[in-house]
Formats: sequence, structure tokens, C-alpha cells
Amino acid sequence: TKRRVGIVFGGKSGEHEVSLKSARAVMNALDPAKYTVVPIGISRNGQWLSGGDPLLALEQQADQKMLGRAPQAGLVSETAIVQSAGSLPEHTNMAALDVIIPVLHGPFGEDGTIQGVFELANLPYVGCGVLAASVGMDKGLMKSAFAAAGLPQVPWQLVLRRDWQQQPEAVYERLEAILHYPMFVKPANLGSSVGISKVSNRAELAAGIAEAAGYDRRIVIEQGINAREIEVAILGNDDPAPSVPGEVLPANDFYDYADKYLEGQTQFAIPAELEAATSEQLRAMAVTAFKAIDGAGLARVDFFVERETGAIYINEINTFPGFTAMSQYPKLWEATGVSYSELLDRLIDLAIERYHERG
Ligand code: ADP
Ligand code: MG
Ligand code: MG
Repeated sequence: TKRRVGIVFGGKSGEHEVSLKSARAVMNALDPAKYTVVPIGISRNGQWLSGGDPLLALEQQADQKMLGRAPQAGLVSETAIVQSAGSLPEHTNMAALDVIIPVLHGPFGEDGTIQGVFELANLPYVGCGVLAASVGMDKGLMKSAFAAAGLPQVPWQLVLRRDWQQQPEAVYERLEAILHYPMFVKPANLGSSVGISKVSNRAELAAGIAEAAGYDRRIVIEQGINAREIEVAILGNDDPAPSVPGEVLPANDFYDYADKYLEGQTQFAIPAELEAATSEQLRAMAVTAFKAIDGAGLARVDFFVERETGAIYINEINTFPGFTAMSQYPKLWEATGVSYSELLDRLIDLAIERYHERG
């Protein structure tokens, strides 16, 4: 019998468009002989869409947004808006699904919130559970978990927006006493380089914190380093397997939002050119990082390899990395011998396995 697979895409995050691209690729790759696909969209303002073609409806909306035109009337209304913004999808008939793939990136998707909905609905779903997803989305908690697991990281500090608003000078002095320029300023809870700046003096630091504070109450400030960026893909539950490492070769000063999604100048070298020992070390560290947050299913673990010293630092873990056929996660597995559609089969099996093994 065919499995009924719900694919959830879009969402309230800044990575809405990326999610649509990932979802389109997933839907194209699922073998129709094995799966019946049930598309479930979430609009930018949090409305759940099902019936009709919610992916096409959201894609057309996204195109119009990119082109700077007002959305054309009727496109979304062709698909049923099953629930209004903010409420749970009572009518998508989730109970009739065998498994859900939340192809969502960023807040309200990759951060444990939607995973909580699936737990409450008693449904198997692909990827990390509530805990791993939320720890993975929060750069502060993530770093604490990595530190506890003994993974090397660049020096970093957490700043509360409130403290900065009340005593900005004291915050700058504390940061400058511990870190030196350039620093990276990041909102704790985002992805896709949104709200991130590289700062080289106090004025830029102030502007960078103001920018990040527009996205989050908590801000992470890191020592900036000059490093290669190496990524390892993870697949599995309690016995996770690492892919070969790949290298990101950003076209801009750092791997920023424009580079990731707009200009797309970034090149990837897969496998990365590394000494065998370094490569093995990175793969082992990626598994440690996945276990440190109690990951499940998939994740991409990103590292820095400092150019001057060769020192390895973990940067972050992404619990639902970009998943288009051109994205690093599937490319890393392809280079490791797992094709895009095999990857989906495997992830669906892992979701069902985890569902039966839990608590
Ligand atoms: P996101 O979760 O948004 O991808 P990252 O922490 O990965 O955020 O930062 C985005 C990019 O910024 C990285 O891929 C890298 O190019 C650059 N970057 C981030 N932190 C540092 C750092 N401490 N030193 C040097 N470059 C950094
Ligand atoms: Mg990230
Ligand atoms: Mg990143």
C-alpha cells in the first residue's frame, strides 16, 4: 500500500521562499508508486492551505512579491484556507496521513513549534523532535550544548536586548574586553544569515546590535575569524551517519542572505579538499554535534577551518537545511552515494522508526 505523505511548506519565516523551492523538489522526487503526496501550505501570515494546489498558490504569491507587484486576486482563494492565522489545522485531516515532512526553514517550522503540533496530533514526522529543533534554532542554547559536548567554538557572548538598551556602553566595553574586531553579530533565533552583520569597530558594533535587536530579544556576538566553511550532512536517528564534507566558497565577504538566495554566486566543492585526518575529524565532530542536541533524521553541521592555523571550530547545526536538488544537504549525500529520492525514502523510514521507538 502507498504511504500518504503530508508535505508542509511555506510558513511565517523569512525563509518562506526557500521552503517553497525545497518543497517543490521534494514533491517532484517522491516516487508516485510508493507515495501519495498531500500538500499543505502555510502562508506568510500563518494561514494553513490545503486542497487545490497550495504550493502553486504560494509560489505565485512569492513571485509577485519578488517582482514587487500586489498579489493577484483569486490565487490563494482557489485553495481552501482551512484555518485562519495562528490556529491549528483542524481540517487538513492530518490523521489520515502516515507521515509528515515539514519542509520548513527557520522560526515556526525548524524550531520545534510545528514539531510540537505533530507530537500532539500523534503523527510521525521527518527530522528532529521538539527539543533538538528548538535548541538547533537558538544560537545561544546551541553553543551551550556544543560546549557541554566538548566541541571547539570561537569565543562568543550572549547579550540581552534589554541590557543593551539600558546600558549600551557597558555592553560594548564588556564585548571589547573579551572579543576583538571583526566580530559577528547575530540574532539568536534565525537562519539564512538574516540580521547578521560583520562589524569592525564600535560604531558598526552598535549598528549591528541594533539590527539584530530588531529580530530577537537575545543577540549572539562572536569572534570573527578568517576561515574556510566546511559542511557535513547527517542522516540517521540514534546511529547517525556523516556524509563526506563539502566546502562553501562564498562569493561575498561572508555567506550572507544575498549570496545564499538572491545572487546565488556561491560555489560548493564536494568533497572538500581536506587532508584525510581532518575530514575524519570533521565527520566525527558532526556526529557528536548531532547527538549533543539529540538530533533525529537529518541535519547539516557547519564548521570553520581557520585559514592561518587550520584550527577547527563548529559554527552551527541546521536541523532542516535547504533541500532543493541543488542544496548542499542532498548534494553531500549524493557524493556519499545516496541519491535524492533514496534520501527521502530513508528519511521517511527514520521518521516512522522514531515514532515507534519513542517514549
Ligand atoms: P545562519 O544560521 O544564518 O546561516 P551563521 O552563523 O552560519 O548564520 O552565519 C552566516 C555566515 O556568516 C557564515 O556562513 C559565515 O560566512 C559568516 N560567519 C558567521 N560567524 C562567523 C565568524 N565567527 N567568523 C567568520 N565568519 C562568520
Ligand atoms: Mg543556520
Ligand atoms: Mg549558517
